[in-house]
Amino acid sequence: MTDVRIRTTSGNVTTLGESALDRLASALRGDLVTRDSPEYEDACRIWNAMIDHRPALIARCRTAADVVTAVRFARDHELLVAVRGGGHNIAGSALADNGLVIDLSPMKNVRVDRVRRTARVEPGVTLGEFDRDTQAFGLATPLGINSTTGIAGLTLGGGYGWLSRKLGLTVDNLRAADVVTAAGELVPASTAENSDLFWAIRGGGGNFGVVTSFEYELHPVGPEVLAGVIVHPFDPTGDLLRRYRDAMEAAPDELTAWVVMRKAPPLPFLPEAVHGTPVVIIPTLYAGDPEEGQRALAPLRAIGTPHADVIGPTPYVGFQTAFDPLLTPGARNYWKTHNFATLYDGLIDTLVEHVRGLPGPQCEIFLAKLGGAVSRLPDDATAYVGRDAQFVMNVHGRWNDASEDARIVDWARQVYQDTLPYAAAGAYVNFMTEDEGERVRAAYGPNYDRLAAIKAKYDPTNLFRSNQNIRPRPATTGPQVTIGQPSRPEVRPQL
Ligand SMILES: Cc1cc2nc3c(=O)[nH]c(=O)nc-3n(C[C@H](O)[C@H](O)[C@H](O)COP(=O)(O)OP(=O)(O)OC[C@H]3O[C@@H](n4cnc5c(N)ncnc54)[C@H](O)[C@@H]3O)c2cc1C
Repeated sequence: MTDVRIRTTSGNVTTLGESALDRLASALRGDLVTRDSPEYEDACRIWNAMIDHRPALIARCRTAADVVTAVRFARDHELLVAVRGGGHNIAGSALADNGLVIDLSPMKNVRVDRVRRTARVEPGVTLGEFDRDTQAFGLATPLGINSTTGIAGLTLGGGYGWLSRKLGLTVDNLRAADVVTAAGELVPASTAENSDLFWAIRGGGGNFGVVTSFEYELHPVGPEVLAGVIVHPFDPTGDLLRRYRDAMEAAPDELTAWVVMRKAPPLPFLPEAVHGTPVVIIPTLYAGDPEEGQRALAPLRAIGTPHADVIGPTPYVGFQTAFDPLLTPGARNYWKTHNFATLYDGLIDTLVEHVRGLPGPQCEIFLAKLGGAVSRLPDDATAYVGRDAQFVMNVHGRWNDASEDARIVDWARQVYQDTLPYAAAGAYVNFMTEDEGERVRAAYGPNYDRLAAIKAKYDPTNLFRSNQNIRPRPATTGPQVTIGQPSRPEVRPQL
């Protein structure tokens, strides 16, 4: 192996000689990938094609022992480190430019305990893999909506999807984890052991160590659920969205319906004349008895006259992959997010205006309806902040041609800016882009200081910094913030 020039945490470049590299390579059960390796280009590919980070070394870990080895190597050489799970994070934090990537994607084991209704899951598992292995027993836990997303990054940021209004965030279903700390020690984390660490990893991202195993609680789900989409023509008056809001505010926890405003993709059940026209797509899942679901759906079905209503009994695992074709890797992506306490009338008017100006056929504004079980815990129950937000917006700029970068990024930023007066406190860190480091403190709001103190305990030198970074800061004078204040809109516009 030839010498490798690699960045350190202080921003300098150091040279790792052949013997150090050979020692690392032979200590790993997985592969050590360098720029000369044939698998290098593949190993550098992540979901968002806008990110062009070129790591100097990639340690493809197969076991927790591999992770310990890689972390100790990084610590001893003070290397710039990134941790990769499924490689989906929009900010591209899975890749350290000229640094070392601890790549967990080969760690794929899922062990389901049907009796205890739990699953022990390694961090390279994707949502689709998790769902397949747990649905084989008619079980599931709340996860996201795109099957190629990694379980690890999703969980560490909070995690939500179709089951969350009924069963909570992904982190609310996390029972325990094993974590390799910055000291290179493998430690357990749960409410019984290292409970501070366990609190922090439930929403605090990859700041506190490398998780080598997650234990989730599982719930009976499906295998068939009532799910599908309703597709409405775009309503420039905003009345459709107001009726959607009102229907969902009265909906039971079992019913989840989000909104995606975009130009219609060529879906087979849409008339050809509708393709490419602005539409309001309402993906929906009822997590309960399908007959009751039909009744619960009635108010939502009555909000307008859709182009199509294709809701019916469908396999849960199928619906969990339904949006994959619109979210394939390889496109350029730029996102902006806010939490909202409700969809204020003025907010709806603003959103409608920006949907009129959609800058491309793949761009969309989506609104996830949360509430329900997510909101029934206080913000200090876990590191995740913003539990009483009823809606999370993701402005999803997506395109293929780099010459469009500025135009589409500007559109996403403008939507963010114009909707800021309606935003509630907090922000979902898993939707934040590379340029939002300054927003992290506000995103964690009342939980930030507690997180900074836990960071100082488990990662005092900020080894794990390729993330929405929480800077280590020891607690000095006891609690410095009021923990547990619900997130509230910074400005409360009139309805
Ligand atoms: C198409 C798409 C759809 C999405 N849909 C949803 C959704 O429905 N619901 C939702 O909640 N989120 C959703 N997300 C956001 C998603 O949760 C985040 O992008 C998440 O970070 C992805 O995790 P990953 O493991 O794939 O990412 P990676 O990029 O591999 O990891 C992200 C970061 O997490 C940390 N990390 C990863 N693994 C570990 C580990 N084992 N130990 C310590 N740190 C680690 C690292 O800091 C890493 O940089 C979606 C994202 C995309 C791209």
